[in-house]
Amino acid sequence: MIKQVGNTKIRERHKLTCHCGAFELLLHLPDGIVNPRRCNCSLCRRKGAIVATVALDGLEIIKGADMLKLYQFNTMVAKHYFCSNCGIYTHHNPRSNPLEYGYNVGCLEDVNPFELGIVPTSDGIHHPLDT
Ligand SMILES: [Zn+2]
Repeated sequence: MIKQVGNTKIRERHKLTCHCGAFELLLHLPDGIVNPRRCNCSLCRRKGAIVATVALDGLEIIKGADMLKLYQFNTMVAKHYFCSNCGIYTHHNPRSNPLEYGYNVGCLEDVNPFELGIVPTSDGIHHPLDT
Protein backbone atom coordinates (compact mmCIF):
# COMPACT_ATOMS: atom_id res chain seq x y z
CA MET A 1 0.00 0.00 0.00
CA ILE A 2 1.21 3.48 -0.88
CA LYS A 3 0.17 6.43 1.28
CA GLN A 4 2.22 9.13 -0.42
CA VAL A 5 3.30 9.83 -4.01
CA GLY A 6 5.94 12.51 -4.36
CA ASN A 7 4.70 15.32 -2.09
CA THR A 8 1.06 14.26 -2.30
CA LYS A 9 -0.44 12.38 0.63
CA ILE A 10 -3.14 9.90 -0.38
CA ARG A 11 -6.21 10.99 1.54
CA GLU A 12 -8.72 8.62 3.12
CA ARG A 13 -11.25 10.14 0.71
CA HIS A 14 -9.36 11.09 -2.43
CA LYS A 15 -10.90 12.74 -5.47
CA LEU A 16 -10.47 11.35 -8.98
CA THR A 17 -11.32 13.41 -12.04
CA CYS A 18 -11.33 12.90 -15.78
CA HIS A 19 -9.31 15.38 -17.86
CA CYS A 20 -12.08 17.87 -18.68
CA GLY A 21 -13.51 17.77 -15.14
CA ALA A 22 -17.04 16.77 -16.22
CA PHE A 23 -16.80 13.57 -14.23
CA GLU A 24 -15.62 13.14 -10.63
CA LEU A 25 -15.36 10.24 -8.22
CA LEU A 26 -14.65 10.16 -4.52
CA LEU A 27 -12.54 7.12 -3.67
CA HIS A 28 -12.35 5.67 -0.18
CA LEU A 29 -8.68 4.75 0.14
CA PRO A 30 -8.02 3.84 3.80
CA ASP A 31 -5.00 1.76 2.71
CA GLY A 32 -3.71 4.29 0.17
CA ILE A 33 -2.95 3.14 -3.37
CA VAL A 34 -3.37 -0.64 -3.38
CA ASN A 35 -1.76 -2.94 -5.96
CA PRO A 36 -0.76 -0.39 -8.62
CA ARG A 37 -0.02 -2.17 -11.89
CA ARG A 38 0.00 -1.95 -15.62
CA CYS A 39 -1.66 -4.63 -17.73
CA ASN A 40 -0.76 -6.12 -21.10
CA CYS A 41 -4.28 -7.03 -22.27
CA SER A 42 -5.52 -5.75 -25.64
CA LEU A 43 -7.30 -2.79 -24.03
CA CYS A 44 -4.75 -1.76 -21.40
CA ARG A 45 -1.79 -1.89 -23.73
CA ARG A 46 -3.57 0.72 -25.83
CA LYS A 47 -4.54 3.06 -23.00
CA GLY A 48 -1.32 2.60 -21.00
CA ALA A 49 -2.80 3.63 -17.65
CA ILE A 50 -1.53 2.54 -14.24
CA VAL A 51 -4.45 0.90 -12.43
CA ALA A 52 -4.99 0.36 -8.69
CA THR A 53 -7.68 -1.36 -6.66
CA VAL A 54 -10.57 0.04 -4.62
CA ALA A 55 -13.46 -1.80 -2.91
CA LEU A 56 -16.87 -1.79 -4.66
CA ASP A 57 -18.38 0.36 -1.89
CA GLY A 58 -15.28 2.56 -1.86
CA LEU A 59 -16.21 4.39 -5.04
CA GLU A 60 -18.77 7.18 -5.14
CA ILE A 61 -19.73 9.25 -8.18
CA ILE A 62 -19.93 12.88 -7.08
CA LYS A 63 -20.28 14.60 -10.46
CA GLY A 64 -21.22 13.83 -14.06
CA ALA A 65 -22.65 10.29 -13.92
CA ASP A 66 -24.41 11.07 -17.21
CA MET A 67 -21.05 11.89 -18.86
CA LEU A 68 -19.80 8.37 -18.31
CA LYS A 69 -19.64 5.90 -21.15
CA LEU A 70 -19.41 2.13 -20.79
CA TYR A 71 -17.18 0.03 -23.05
CA GLN A 72 -17.30 -3.76 -23.15
CA PHE A 73 -15.61 -6.33 -25.37
CA ASN A 74 -14.82 -10.04 -25.72
CA THR A 75 -16.78 -11.80 -22.92
CA MET A 76 -18.69 -8.54 -22.21
CA VAL A 77 -18.33 -9.10 -18.45
CA ALA A 78 -15.86 -6.43 -17.40
CA LYS A 79 -17.15 -2.85 -17.45
CA HIS A 80 -14.74 -0.18 -18.64
CA TYR A 81 -15.82 3.41 -18.04
CA PHE A 82 -14.55 6.58 -19.64
CA CYS A 83 -15.62 10.22 -19.97
CA SER A 84 -17.68 10.77 -23.11
CA ASN A 85 -16.28 14.29 -23.47
CA CYS A 86 -12.51 13.96 -22.97
CA GLY A 87 -12.22 10.21 -23.54
CA ILE A 88 -10.19 9.53 -20.40
CA TYR A 89 -10.54 6.12 -18.75
CA THR A 90 -11.49 6.64 -15.10
CA HIS A 91 -12.37 3.22 -13.65
CA HIS A 92 -13.52 -0.28 -14.44
CA ASN A 93 -15.18 -3.30 -12.86
CA PRO A 94 -12.96 -6.26 -13.77
CA ARG A 95 -14.00 -9.74 -14.81
CA SER A 96 -11.18 -11.24 -12.72
CA ASN A 97 -12.62 -9.75 -9.52
CA PRO A 98 -16.13 -8.23 -9.82
CA LEU A 99 -16.04 -7.41 -6.10
CA GLU A 100 -13.66 -4.52 -6.68
CA TYR A 101 -13.04 -1.63 -9.03
CA GLY A 102 -9.86 -0.70 -10.78
CA TYR A 103 -9.19 3.01 -11.24
CA ASN A 104 -6.80 5.20 -13.20
CA VAL A 105 -4.02 6.29 -10.81
CA GLY A 106 -3.18 9.15 -13.19
CA CYS A 107 -6.65 10.63 -12.51
CA LEU A 108 -6.13 10.93 -8.73
CA GLU A 109 -6.10 14.57 -7.68
CA ASP A 110 -2.52 15.93 -7.39
CA VAL A 111 -0.93 12.52 -8.00
CA ASN A 112 1.82 12.21 -10.62
CA PRO A 113 1.91 8.50 -11.52
CA PHE A 114 5.47 8.90 -12.85
CA GLU A 115 6.55 9.35 -9.21
CA LEU A 116 5.45 5.78 -8.40
CA GLY A 117 8.66 4.40 -9.88
CA ILE A 118 8.60 0.93 -11.40
CA VAL A 119 5.12 -0.55 -11.49
CA PRO A 120 4.57 -4.28 -12.16
CA THR A 121 2.69 -5.47 -15.24
CA SER A 122 -0.09 -8.02 -14.73
CA ASP A 123 -0.56 -10.69 -17.35
CA GLY A 124 -3.92 -9.71 -18.80
CA ILE A 125 -3.21 -11.57 -22.06
CA HIS A 126 -3.49 -14.84 -20.17
CA HIS A 127 -6.63 -14.05 -18.19
CA PRO A 128 -7.08 -16.18 -15.01
CA LEU A 129 -10.66 -17.04 -16.06
CA ASP A 130 -9.61 -18.23 -19.53
CA THR A 131 -7.53 -21.20 -18.32
ZN1 LIG B 1 -13.90 14.37 -19.19
